[in-house]
Formats: sequence, C-alpha cells, structure tokens
Amino acid sequence: MTVAPRKDASAMESEVREKIHLEILKRTGAYHANDHVLLPSGQHTTEYIEKTLVTTEPSFTEGLGAVIAKHFAPWPVDVVLSTGPAALILSHCVARAHPSRPVVVYGMKGMASGKRRVTLPVEFQRLIREGTKVLVVEDLVSTGATLELLIDLVEQMGAHVVGVGCLWRRTSVELNGKPVFSLVSRDFPTYSPEDCPLCRRGVPLNEEFVRRRNQRRPPSVQEKRGS
Ligand SMILES: [Zn+2]
Repeated sequence: MTVAPRKDASAMESEVREKIHLEILKRTGAYHANDHVLLPSGQHTTEYIEKTLVTTEPSFTEGLGAVIAKHFAPWPVDVVLSTGPAALILSHCVARAHPSRPVVVYGMKGMASGKRRVTLPVEFQRLIREGTKVLVVEDLVSTGATLELLIDLVEQMGAHVVGVGCLWRRTSVELNGKPVFSLVSRDFPTYSPEDCPLCRRGVPLNEEFVRRRNQRRPPSVQEKRGS
C-alpha cells in the first residue's frame, strides 16, 4: 500500500485560508473563475478579478483587513501606507485592526516622461520621517513595480518598511527583500487566441469585461450653471 505524501500542517492551513479568502472575493462579485475571459490586452484567461468590486462589502473588507493586521501585529507600525487611493479602504481596515493604532496615508502613482513614478501628497510628508515604521498595503500585486518604487521612496525619507500586506499576489517577485503577506497568492495563465486551449475546446468567449470598459459610458450629470 502506498501512502500519499502528507503536506505539513502549515501548508495545508494556508491552502484552506486561501480558499476561504477566494470564496469571500467571489461573493463580492470581484472574482470570476472557470471562465474563458477576453482581457483588454487581447489575451484569453480562465480567471478574472474586477478590482473595483473587491472592497464593496464593508464586513468582508473589515475581515480581510483584520487578517492582514493580525499577521503584522507583532511588529509596531506607525503608518499604514496605501499604494494609492484605490487601496485606501483596505488600508483603513488594516490600520483599524492593528494594535499599534497607526495612521493611514496614501501614495500617488503616475507617469513622468514615460516612466512610472510615485509621490506622497505634501500633507503626508511630515508623517513619514527618520525612524517611522511603515506597513505598505496594496489590493492586487501583479508586477510589484509600483510597490518597489514606493518602498524606495519611504526608505529615502529615512523611514523603515515593516512589510507589505496585500489581498492578492499574482507573482512571487521579491519586493526589495521585504516580507510580503498576501491573502491569496495565485497566478493564472493567459493565452494568445491562437494558443488558447479553451478556444480549441470551443468554450464561448466572455467579452463582457472588455466591452464594459470600452463601450458602456457610465451615467453622469453635469452642472448646468456656473456657481
Ligand atoms: Zn480563448
């Protein structure tokens, strides 16, 4: 009789945890799995995350934020730094649940002469100085390029990055050697239409997300008179 190799308890535990977190993201409508999705790049994939829906359920966001806070609870944190306004709701929930009662600030991402660039709004600059302990929070990490810049910026200001907490990490890139904690750590393959196994099996292509981006104009109102 052969016995399947047993996974150690911590690997199994993190697998279970990840499943729970995926289920939560599914319930917010942000995570789509077992699909055949057209991406804005023209590539096809089986899974998709609608970033803007990730933090629409307050109790879920609070729960997920608390898990990240719990992970970093042994380290004192003065400031939770959101990578941008988009990750601010999650950052708030992390800061709220962290025993150090850190303040929350956010960075700004942009492009300058074709290159990625991050800055801190001037009002926040006095909150991050020599010796400040900073926990960086991001919703979805794909390449980690913005995070690396933000870590550099914080360190240039003389502060110390305790770690990076995120909901989802698509890559296993090292972020300047900082400890990274993600609720879900999962990548999914993307295919060009010619090589797509789902196309080959005749699975209908879901173009909803690209169509939504390109065609549907959100309802808007405009001020009628100058005030
Ligand atoms: Zn396909």
